[in-house]
Amino acid sequence: MSIQRGSLVVISGPSGVGKTTILRMLLEQLPELTPSVSATTRPPRAGERDGIDYHFLSPEDFARRRENDEFLECCRVYGRDSWYGTLVDEVTPRLDAGQWVVLEIDVEGTLSVLERYPDTITIFVEPSRPEQLDERLTRRGTESAEAIERRLEVARRELGQAHLYRHRVVNENVDEAVAGIIEILRQAGLESVAASEARPC
Ligand code: 5GP
Repeated sequence: MSIQRGSLVVISGPSGVGKTTILRMLLEQLPELTPSVSATTRPPRAGERDGIDYHFLSPEDFARRRENDEFLECCRVYGRDSWYGTLVDEVTPRLDAGQWVVLEIDVEGTLSVLERYPDTITIFVEPSRPEQLDERLTRRGTESAEAIERRLEVARRELGQAHLYRHRVVNENVDEAVAGIIEILRQAGLESVAASEARPC
């Protein structure tokens, strides 16, 4: 078995909490963080690109890769019909090369990752008020009232699992939430380029 030299970071949180924005801002501010591109059987949404947002796989291809043990973790995300999974190839070679890899996955996936990589830095993003999720999902306007209600039911279940994470960050203000996560990662040993440039010689 190879020695893990890099660090693995998992970010989870209920639908509508602002994870995608937070992750995008983190990747902009921390060039040393590399995202793992998940695989899914769900169809791409408008604007999503294969290999960048997800590896979009057919159910047959996904099943074949599961049989070949190509996934670090995979599951049918609660409340959805589609499969989602983290490919070993997206994570292990980068960790072995000393990189920091970030996954945005659900709670079930996080528990599987922890079995293989117990030192994973797990971060759960929470809303400041439960109603925040409802407001965001309604404002986003991408889902029917029924789909929003289903997502909220899943969100309530996920909020009850936040204690399984090593760190919890409240997203009342996105800049502060991102700053909070950067601080967690620095304390865990991430040397940001920006921080080392700011340091006097
Ligand atoms: P969406 O379909 O909105 O892009 O993602 C739905 C959910 O799937 C999110 O909660 C996200 O965290 C989760 N997810 C995305 N990729 C993965 C993955 O590779 N593994 C697991 N377990 N969950 C994932």
